[in-house]
Amino acid sequence: MNMDLSEIITENEPLARHTYFRIGGPAKFFVQPRTEGELAAVLGTFAEEGEDIHILGGGTNLLISDDGIGGAVIRLGKEFAFCEFTEGSTRAVVGAGHTLASVVRQSVERGLAGLEGVIGVPGTFGGAAFMNAGGKHGNVGDVITSATVMGFDGTARRVERDEIEFSYRSSSIDGILLQAELEFERGDAEELSVRMKDVLQQKRDSQPLSAKSAGCAFKNPPGQSAGALIDQLGFKGVSVGGAQVSEKHANFIVNTGDATAAHVLELIDIIREKVKLEFDVDLDLEVRLWGFG
Ligand SMILES: Cc1cc2nc3c(=O)[nH]c(=O)nc-3n(C[C@H](O)[C@H](O)[C@H](O)COP(=O)(O)OP(=O)(O)OC[C@H]3O[C@@H](n4cnc5c(N)ncnc54)[C@H](O)[C@@H]3O)c2cc1C
Repeated sequence: MNMDLSEIITENEPLARHTYFRIGGPAKFFVQPRTEGELAAVLGTFAEEGEDIHILGGGTNLLISDDGIGGAVIRLGKEFAFCEFTEGSTRAVVGAGHTLASVVRQSVERGLAGLEGVIGVPGTFGGAAFMNAGGKHGNVGDVITSATVMGFDGTARRVERDEIEFSYRSSSIDGILLQAELEFERGDAEELSVRMKDVLQQKRDSQPLSAKSAGCAFKNPPGQSAGALIDQLGFKGVSVGGAQVSEKHANFIVNTGDATAAHVLELIDIIREKVKLEFDVDLDLEVRLWGFG
């Protein structure tokens, strides 16, 4: 490798700084590539050394171990954060590092429909595409027509929509999403703005949006609401250390100040056990776990 990567790599970076939960031990290597070339070089270097690679977006759907994680955590630098709408058309190209909220607001201002229902989801566009983030008002995958993905071997390729599978809180994106092309429907800016504000208000009323959390802890089992099941068992307000089941929404676990990943995980286990016992339902995690072996 002839590129000097020392400027973009730090060692033992505390990941609590980079997660919405404000939880997480250090990353052995924390890397912020500024260009595709640097990203490819980083991937090559760490692959050669047999190090694991993790891609970090906004850290809004992650629970990271208190012991941190080995290998490299890669966060795309600000150069990957762009959002370009093609004037007079219904199309846009969005870099993976751009915040989802900004893409949503810009599309609504332009009278472009498709993403207004995902307002309130924090994090980056890359994380949102990978997770197919959304809910009952729509999902991010709905507007993606193609994507540029870099494989862990450092080769970037364009992937068409029909090669990507988007399902409930998951996608088949295999590698690092660099950017995506989006196609919206034409709509009325005023109406879309009203709808967007409406959805945001509904979420503010029912979810602890500004508390430290990773959003919904569990996926909804088919035909059921994980939050409703947990609520029926009286879990709202129940805590382990600094981790507490939100009083506002039973599927959110919040960090009340000094929660550790161990606290959150213990609470998750208690909830899962009780839900299994009382309803014979297995709750799958929506939050992604890093560094737990
Ligand atoms: C208050 C709150 C409310 C939320 N509400 C919702 C909601 O309504 N609906 C919903 O679906 N989610 C919700 N979430 C969860 C979370 O915001 C989404 O999953 C979000 O899209 C994750 O984006 P991120 O950039 O933070 O990804 P991260 O949390 O950093 O990463 C999530 C996953 O995406 C992968 N990833 C990140 N970037 C890339 C990339 N460029 N290429 C490939 N993989 C990548 C990571 O490796 C990881 O596996 C909420 C979270 C919070 C804290």
